[in-house]
Amino acid sequence: MKTRRLFLQKASLSAMALAVPAFNPLSAMTNSMNIVSKDSEVLRVAIMGLGSYGTRVAEAIQDCNRVKLVGVISGTPSKVEDWKSTYNIPAKNCYDYDNFDAIKDNPDIDAVYVITPNALHKDQVIRVAKAGKHAICEKPMAISAEDGQAMVDACKTAGVHLLIGYRMHFEPNTLEVIRMRKDGELGEIRFFQGLCGFVIGDPTQWRLDRILSGGGAMMDIGIYAINGARYMIGEEPIWVTAQEVKTDSEKFKEGIDETITFQLGFPNGVIASCLSTYNMNNLDRFYLNGSNGWVEMQPSTGYGPIEGQTHAGPLTEPIVTHQTVQMDEMAAIIFEGKQPEVPVNGEEGVKDMKIIDAIFEAVKTGEKVALNLS
Ligand code: NAD
Repeated sequence: MKTRRLFLQKASLSAMALAVPAFNPLSAMTNSMNIVSKDSEVLRVAIMGLGSYGTRVAEAIQDCNRVKLVGVISGTPSKVEDWKSTYNIPAKNCYDYDNFDAIKDNPDIDAVYVITPNALHKDQVIRVAKAGKHAICEKPMAISAEDGQAMVDACKTAGVHLLIGYRMHFEPNTLEVIRMRKDGELGEIRFFQGLCGFVIGDPTQWRLDRILSGGGAMMDIGIYAINGARYMIGEEPIWVTAQEVKTDSEKFKEGIDETITFQLGFPNGVIASCLSTYNMNNLDRFYLNGSNGWVEMQPSTGYGPIEGQTHAGPLTEPIVTHQTVQMDEMAAIIFEGKQPEVPVNGEEGVKDMKIIDAIFEAVKTGEKVALNLS
């Protein structure tokens, strides 16, 4: 009841915000893009992995119209205690990594958001599916396409949704560029450039441990350029070439890529040229070129604000908290079968994993690797 009351309060507040925008702060207005009807259901979510991004998602959920954080799964009892008091989570909705299969007997949790190190996603999502709960999983969905496909299959068998945390698929300036491209304002698309990177710190973190990460910068940040190339160009690549550079083989051990440049070839000769690195800061840039126009976004995939210029002027869509909008939209996908402009389902995640597998193969062999994403 409390969930529903809270939700209805938020719903009417957002309706007011939309009715009288002049009197409302930008954040209240822009985070309420999803107009929620009185009968909309609230998605009750448990977060698995209470680390840095899990905390960001938990905070963002507090502003959701139709998502509520109701549970946690963690191996650290002190974090569970903190989250119980911060987010008013009942003890009966708290689990650890050994006992969370029991979530199947908990009718108060609809979905589990897996926000743990990459290599753990596969088994955790499969267990969530077997417990009959919807799975939301962070990027990269797994550490190989084969593992990603096993997750898709398990969720299909269990009859639950599998959604990947592709927050950019709901970001307003990104969606505006996609609209421009679809409406032909850029003409025929010819070229995309995606540059993604940062200088990684602590050498002992899981991101630099191949067993937990499945790779280096590519799994973590290069995936934004891969995914961005696909949604910006609006086609699937048919081949890839790639080259690796390593300046510190002590920090970036075997299987952990430091810097990879890669090229994706699309049907009709469109090319994407991308860079993924753990060795350069301030690298978050997309550029799209068409026969009639262009778009330059920087930052293009950070937490925001996303900024950009086009041949027709600056991008001026509302600034949102990405994770708040993502979660409200995911509730609509789960409950109403809403089709997002760019998919966030498991199959979408597998396509990116196939490209990552092919990039690693291209680095190893020096060959052009063919892709079949259909
Ligand atoms: P983090 O290190 O801050 O948190 C990871 C959490 O997993 C910690 O709470 C840790 O205790 C827990 N964990 C469980 N089992 C573990 C194990 N065996 N070893 C290490 N930690 C274990 O990492 P993060 O930055 O929150 O990243 C988590 C996931 O979220 C990754 O898949 C990452 O790619 C993704 N992520 C996505 C975004 C985005 O913008 N979509 C941003 C950051 C991270």
